[in-house]
Amino acid sequence: MVALLTLLSCSQRHQYSFAPGDVVPDNVLDTMDINTRFVCLEIPDTVFDLMCGRSYKDDCILSRSDLRYLLILHRNLEGKAVVGEMVVNKEIAADVLDIMEELFLKSYPIERVRLIDYYDADDEKSMAANNTTCFNWRPKSGSTQISKHALGLAIDINPLYNPYYKFFEGTETVRPIEGTPYIDRLSGYPYQIEEGDDCYNAFISHGFTWGGSWRSVTDYQHFEK
Ligand SMILES: [Zn+2]
Repeated sequence: MVALLTLLSCSQRHQYSFAPGDVVPDNVLDTMDINTRFVCLEIPDTVFDLMCGRSYKDDCILSRSDLRYLLILHRNLEGKAVVGEMVVNKEIAADVLDIMEELFLKSYPIERVRLIDYYDADDEKSMAANNTTCFNWRPKSGSTQISKHALGLAIDINPLYNPYYKFFEGTETVRPIEGTPYIDRLSGYPYQIEEGDDCYNAFISHGFTWGGSWRSVTDYQHFEK
């Protein structure tokens, strides 16, 4: 447990603390001030300790002060409200808070929003767990170039069900490999992102582009600014 989302009731007579991953009962949520549910913080010491040597490596060109730690709420496929956490570039922090709040209010399903550091900053492991993430100092998938994730400017949503796909010189690449069944986009899987849906619209209206529209590779999980 590295940080707590403290929810205050409207009257502020009751204070509840939830850690990332916790389910927040709807009867508790109903009494809460919406402004206490989506929070942007400087990177707390406990979070930075977890990130160092994992998502935040020695050669990272961003400073700790370029990044922000977000505590948010999301609805899982069962419709339960869950506390999520994400590290993003401070330049998109306000946008991401808005987007996550919009998706929460629309009950758009997001299974898991935990720091990639719990997966040793291993993108394959995190994606296979269908974990939604943003910052990770790493090269682009299949490349040595810096990824937008390395700058905290890209977010992967429900990545297991929205895999990265590349077909080049007769070879198919799918990431995560466990996402292979979900390359077929006509089947309407849970958590599937499509052009014009609530997730797509929330990101696009905040000036992000969608990897599902790219031509060279198709990255259904990926939104970047
Ligand atoms: Zn991505």
